Amino acid sequence: MSSLDEVSISHRFSELPGNFYTLVEPTPLENVRWVAWNSDLALELGFPEDVRQDFALLNSLSGTQAHVSFKPLAMKYAGHQFGVYNPDLGDGRGLLLGEVTSQKGTVYDLHLKGAGQTPYSRMGDGRAVLRSTIREYLCSEAMAGLGIPTTRALAMMVSDSAVYREDVEQGALLVRAAETHIRFGHFEHFFYSGQHDALKLLADKALNWYFPDCQQQEQPHAAMFSEIVRLTAEMIAHWQAQGFAHGVMNTDNMSILGQTFDYGPFGFMDDYEPGYICNHSDYQGRYSFDNQPSIALWNLTALAHALTPLISRAELDRSLETFSPILQSRYSQQMREKFGLLSKQSDDGEFFNDSFALMQQERVDYPRFFRELSNIDINGGESLVDLFIDRNKAANWLERYKKRSADEEVSLTQRSDNMRQVNPKFILRNYLAQQAIELAQKGDFSMVASLSNVLQSPYSEHRDFEQFSALPPEWGKRMEISCSS
Ligand code: AMP
Ligand code: MG
Repeated sequence: MSSLDEVSISHRFSELPGNFYTLVEPTPLENVRWVAWNSDLALELGFPEDVRQDFALLNSLSGTQAHVSFKPLAMKYAGHQFGVYNPDLGDGRGLLLGEVTSQKGTVYDLHLKGAGQTPYSRMGDGRAVLRSTIREYLCSEAMAGLGIPTTRALAMMVSDSAVYREDVEQGALLVRAAETHIRFGHFEHFFYSGQHDALKLLADKALNWYFPDCQQQEQPHAAMFSEIVRLTAEMIAHWQAQGFAHGVMNTDNMSILGQTFDYGPFGFMDDYEPGYICNHSDYQGRYSFDNQPSIALWNLTALAHALTPLISRAELDRSLETFSPILQSRYSQQMREKFGLLSKQSDDGEFFNDSFALMQQERVDYPRFFRELSNIDINGGESLVDLFIDRNKAANWLERYKKRSADEEVSLTQRSDNMRQVNPKFILRNYLAQQAIELAQKGDFSMVASLSNVLQSPYSEHRDFEQFSALPPEWGKRMEISCSS
């Protein structure tokens, strides 16, 4: 009896026709062992809370031993990478194991990343290294903790199999849980390959699985696209408000549910720098922080084009036109909450613009700025001033802020409390991920565990883990991460 028998697993994607995927068994890794288990998520999905001794589950989830509950398959998709269409994509190193229905009735795909080669691996080895697996595990849980829509991480395993990148590294596995693995690129694949029946079937299934309310609308496909636009705009508003740069916003990395998807060379901004580029291979800055809104719209336009056999151009354009207003309104609301300025005044625009310009000029640490601003009830803003190069400018700004915030209706204490709920104390800065990785590569996973714990509730104080809220050391600032993962 395995604990897998207790979990409710279905296989609805595998019931689609054969041109949607290829059935592939995982290629086992050597001497696989658990290195992280997300017990909160596990409980929600019906898995045991503690699996350290559950070797049957380890063998099944890691693909070491086939289990009847799973029907592993590699999905076929395509996508625009750095603006160029690539028809040859698909799950090159990850497999959909099946779908799990959670206690709350939400259906999650279970996807094993690093499972070996598939027909879509092209030149790749089908593997994921420990370094990138840790980054995805930590970041997806950090995003969930921040309240940003995202895929989740259920488990991480490491092995003794060697994987060759710039150096020899350890092969690892991530069990990703996500409400969907359908990307914009799935629709692009069927559109550009002229398989318009399959395109319609995919749209019908997506409606049924993820957008049941749209089925009642007069034009269900158009209503669904409109929802995808809204969800994407909301996700981007979160990214921009919390200083998150994705790094590889190709259309094959865009979930149709507007959930942050595929963590590679992502980065959270340290010093406020709108042109921040986190991806070392992004020479033109296509995916720079401040380009993310326009790239998301570009990607939605690419998806719209792929949907032209199903939805009229006029309907698609109508939905695309809602993107910027939705993003703008969600972003403004979040920034108002971050600044603790909820009442609207005529010169607020000017105040916010001046604040951002000053932050950039003074290379102020973005997340710390807002956390210190939230703690103004405790120290009057003293430690905020320390974040600026020019203390006079900081003092003047603070004066102006205090004057403006005095007009708010709530008390200072209440306002500060509210602000601490939206301005995290803990952010997965690249240097922290790097430290956790270096320890893990020596076999010590304690920092991965403690960091992921803290990041699951980043707005709390966690007094025993002050070190994780430290500003980055010089070496850790503006780290660019390579795509090789
Ligand atoms: P990514 O940059 O991770 O979004 O991946 C882009 C495409 O390359 C996807 O189709 C992946 O499945 C594939 N891919 C990435 N890394 C590997 C690898 N090591 N082996 C095989 N395919 C890979
Ligand atoms: Mg990808």
